[in-house]
Amino acid sequence: MDSCLFCKIIKKELPAKFIFESENAVAFPDINPSAEVHILIVPKGHIGGVQDLDKESGGLLAEIYLVANQLVKQYNLEDSLYRVVVNGGKAQHVPHLHFHLLGGNLNKLV
Ligand code: AMP
Ligand code: ZN
Repeated sequence: MDSCLFCKIIKKELPAKFIFESENAVAFPDINPSAEVHILIVPKGHIGGVQDLDKESGGLLAEIYLVANQLVKQYNLEDSLYRVVVNGGKAQHVPHLHFHLLGGNLNKLV
């Protein structure tokens, strides 16, 4: 979608440091981190939010969680703490589905 911030990042029209990239997803640091580790895992195809998922979305969601699995290990979060969070509705500010991987310090994880 032309006007979408994350679509522009995915098309490399806006800068972001990709920590991960595959055919279907990217991951890059959140520009305004809420935790020591704050990474956004974003499907490449434009999906507005959880409300737009359907039965065909299962494979993509599995892929996203396997990216999260890889990043949890890469950032040594297993013995620390982490959350995977998806905001929606009025709690979601960028209307392109994304998964926040937050980890490393408890106090800011709110
Ligand atoms: P949400 O409220 O779940 O839609 O979260 C959107 C997130 O995107 C926020 O945590 C923002 O800090 C983050 N964000 C916005 N613009 C950028 C950007 N250009 N690069 C990286 N993260 C961004
Ligand atoms: Zn988009």
